[in-house]
Amino acid sequence: MANKHVYLFGKGITEGSGTLKNLLGGKGANLAEMARRGFNVPPGFTITTEVCTHYYENGKKYPTTLKADIKKAVVAIEKSTGKKLGSDKNPLLVAVRSGARESMPGMMDTILNLGLNDTTVEVLKTKSGNGRFAYDSYRRFIQMYSGVVMGVERANENEHDPFEVVLEEARHARGVQHDNQLTEDDLKDVIAKFKAIVKTHTGKSFPADPYEQLDGAVGAVFNSWMNERAILYRKKYKIPAEWGTAVNVQSMVFGNMGDNSGTGVAFTRNPANGANEFYGEFLVNAQGEDVVAGIRTPLKVALMANTPGLEHCFKELCQVRKNLEKEFGDVQDFEFTIEEGKLYMLQTRNGKRTAQAYVKIAHDMVKEKLMTPDHAISSADPEAIEQLLAPVFNKDAYKAAIAEGRVLTKGLPAGPGAATGTLVFSANKAEELSAHGPVVLARIETSPEDLRGMIAAAGILTARGGVSSHAAVVARQMGKVCVAGAAELNIDYSAGTMSCNGLTVHEGEFISINGSTGEIFAGKIDTAPSELIQVLINKTLAPQDSELFGYYDFVMKLADKYRKLGIRTNADQPDQAANAVAFGAEGVGLCRTEHMFFEGNRIDHVREMIILAAEYAEYKDKASVHGANIEALKREYALAIEHFTGALAKLLPIQQSDFEGLFTAMADKPVTVRYLDPPLHEFLPQSKDQIELLANKLKVSFERVSNTVHNLHESNPMLGHRGCRLGIVYPEISEMQSRAIFRAAIAVGEKTGKAPKPEIMIPLVGFDRELQLQLDIVHRVAAEEMKASGKKIDYKVGTMIEIPRAALTAAEIAQTAQFFSFGTNDLTQTTLGMSRDDSGSFLPYYERADVNIIKTNPFASLDQTGVGRLMQLAVEGGRSTRPDIKLGICGEHGGDPASIDFCHRIGLSYVSCSPFRVPVARIAAAKSALKNAPVAVVAKATPKVAPAKKPTKPVTKKSAPAKKLSKLVAKKPIAKKAIAKKVVVPKPAPKKSLKKGKKK
Ligand code: PEP
Ligand code: MG
Repeated sequence: MANKHVYLFGKGITEGSGTLKNLLGGKGANLAEMARRGFNVPPGFTITTEVCTHYYENGKKYPTTLKADIKKAVVAIEKSTGKKLGSDKNPLLVAVRSGARESMPGMMDTILNLGLNDTTVEVLKTKSGNGRFAYDSYRRFIQMYSGVVMGVERANENEHDPFEVVLEEARHARGVQHDNQLTEDDLKDVIAKFKAIVKTHTGKSFPADPYEQLDGAVGAVFNSWMNERAILYRKKYKIPAEWGTAVNVQSMVFGNMGDNSGTGVAFTRNPANGANEFYGEFLVNAQGEDVVAGIRTPLKVALMANTPGLEHCFKELCQVRKNLEKEFGDVQDFEFTIEEGKLYMLQTRNGKRTAQAYVKIAHDMVKEKLMTPDHAISSADPEAIEQLLAPVFNKDAYKAAIAEGRVLTKGLPAGPGAATGTLVFSANKAEELSAHGPVVLARIETSPEDLRGMIAAAGILTARGGVSSHAAVVARQMGKVCVAGAAELNIDYSAGTMSCNGLTVHEGEFISINGSTGEIFAGKIDTAPSELIQVLINKTLAPQDSELFGYYDFVMKLADKYRKLGIRTNADQPDQAANAVAFGAEGVGLCRTEHMFFEGNRIDHVREMIILAAEYAEYKDKASVHGANIEALKREYALAIEHFTGALAKLLPIQQSDFEGLFTAMADKPVTVRYLDPPLHEFLPQSKDQIELLANKLKVSFERVSNTVHNLHESNPMLGHRGCRLGIVYPEISEMQSRAIFRAAIAVGEKTGKAPKPEIMIPLVGFDRELQLQLDIVHRVAAEEMKASGKKIDYKVGTMIEIPRAALTAAEIAQTAQFFSFGTNDLTQTTLGMSRDDSGSFLPYYERADVNIIKTNPFASLDQTGVGRLMQLAVEGGRSTRPDIKLGICGEHGGDPASIDFCHRIGLSYVSCSPFRVPVARIAAAKSALKNAPVAVVAKATPKVAPAKKPTKPVTKKSAPAKKLSKLVAKKPIAKKAIAKKVVVPKPAPKKSLKKGKKK
């Protein structure tokens, strides 16, 4: 840990810079950067994230010099402002805010007006000539400090905040609506009551000493890093706890100094749809928290142009808006305060935006040369791209709902898209009912405690608060549909109703919200596919008629220029493959052939093949003995031979036509076909009725079928007779699949003129000999079919690496395998010894912050240190005997951004994921290429930055050559934020169960 714990910022004293985000947090680094670039920033200092880490690593103890360092920094601020902490002549008041490396909106706590006490408040009154302002500031400080530092808060989500109750009573007694209408005397009375509340709740008096206040506030910010909502937020966005938060202490400026003061938050462009318009809100005579907390509904920033006393500030703000984009190279989300007509910048950061806004902004700002193409990609949130595929309301159902008068009211469109679901009023209910279908969470206003409910909900609705309120900011980030500030709505938690416009909806009934227009409807409205789906998949909308498609396409093409990884898809059917190609897939990375066996009546043939398969194997065993009487054996096993080989003969043309469909859809792109994998008993019926039905169909006895079902039962099917073990015992199955593939490839080649590229993949190989035996069949059949047709097929044969032995003996296996595809679903379960189907009973416990065994579900995001290590060994081993070996991944991890980054780093050739994840994977792969590029990729603004006192750690690293992989990976465990998880908790890996797998 460095010795420097505190960095000053402000005109002429700035020590940090925008490049020090890891050390100073996003807020601290950008405050320093703004100060450097001449924006008017109130002076202050940042306590580094290293102090936070130290605090947690040392039993919540600070570095020994910290107290002195803080004191020194305070003195510097005092010098810069001419004020003094605790002074009875010119007191310095400060704001204390958290600021992690990645912004965590609303997750951490802020304290304003620190330094006020019974003495300094009087000085503030005299100096400002405004007693109401001084006492209002004081009551705000006590309210915030008591909640955040001293833990005085409401008992549960349905109870009111005790301080708000006092304020409400005061407003009522005075007969006014707003806090700013309370008089100085009212506020003095409120303050006395606040102090009494503190004493009752904590048994302690409210601290009067400013240094004691500061001490408590700094501690509270560090402690809030580990509060429940911060932990939940970090988990969701994969922010490592080790990063810690910084603490920013900044001299206060006051937006509540009268009608020529105010405060606001703004985006340089519209973060909901990306439009190039000044998008923000402000409140006259108010402090920052009023806007963010959504307690008073603010005014649109454009209205400031006509607000007496603030007209010139609007002009200045418009200039700031332009400068910010120019200087920071991205859309900025900033906070400002106007104190008696003077504009101050309190914060700026890259604005969080919806996926729709992201593609438009990336497109526009790159074209306007305000954003570098690198930044357009490296700032992307790959997971969020899936939002673009989210449904919208069905047009007719939507019109009908309007015609039927089901519109309750209209709020602010805060998160685009359409959501329909069961109405709930609490986070608990949202979590509970979301297990049974989509829910819409309605709250008067949301607070960070509602996060769980917001995660569970399909849509979020609030009666209070603007487009920058907590609900709106968080919903947008999560990609949730959101309507905020529907002020006419009357939400009654205790009655469990929401009413407006003569309509009442009860908790548990259906409701629909349109996050693009703000409309709220009673009842259900069917949803329809998104514009992108209409263009790309349904082809019901021409590309040129969709602006959104234009932006999306621009970004995707840009991403394709950067990425090194190929993107394939896991698809078993032609339509799935075609969808994936529309999304940009460059091949099929996994066709699970068993899924094809369930279509139509072919399952009957599969069952016929299985039912006497064991007897057929017995026949073959006996027939292979030297001198066996083959004719007699044929007679003895006639039924088994007839059923087994007969069924395979029936399956051959069916499989062939399946492959023809797939090859046609993929044209000359590679198609990886995996041979039969699941244990045979998974195809058989289990109930008595079904067994009887099958026996009748096959004209064999009930006992025979039921015996087979019984005999094929395995105690541990995942480790049983499956994968290549099937093809070893029943080579006829592999032969049939090989023949079907080559015949299909030849037929499609002749028909379409495009040469299919089959890549045949043998599953669950652990011994090189297993692969060898299967490849003998493939090569023999290939030769036979090519000879018979006179056509040549360009094919490859390889294997999945999905059990540890294969990874450890990869060098031998690569002597026969032309490619490896990591089956990380099985590789995870076999490496961890955790069943992918049964781990749900304990994994959530392992993930809990207090247990902390694993950070994320290893079936959703690669266990890079364990499973990843094996992958790395396999890569090294494979390349040692076959330097040009092709390497891919086809487990579910192939669609997970963090895992994709790992795959890039270990030098795989491609990732394969489900069709709808393809756009996510394209962006994730491009980001990874940029992040790991040999030369540091820097945002436009960075080169202008004056050198910081402490150099940043190098951010980038070249993709290491194969030999050095172990080093690279070992040193770089998971850590990085997966820039983007959809709100939904990552899908678990597919169950091995075929029926379930098929629906994937
Ligand atoms: C795997 O194991 O990762 C894989 C892709 O195969 P399956 O999920 O079908 O077992
Ligand atoms: Mg597998």
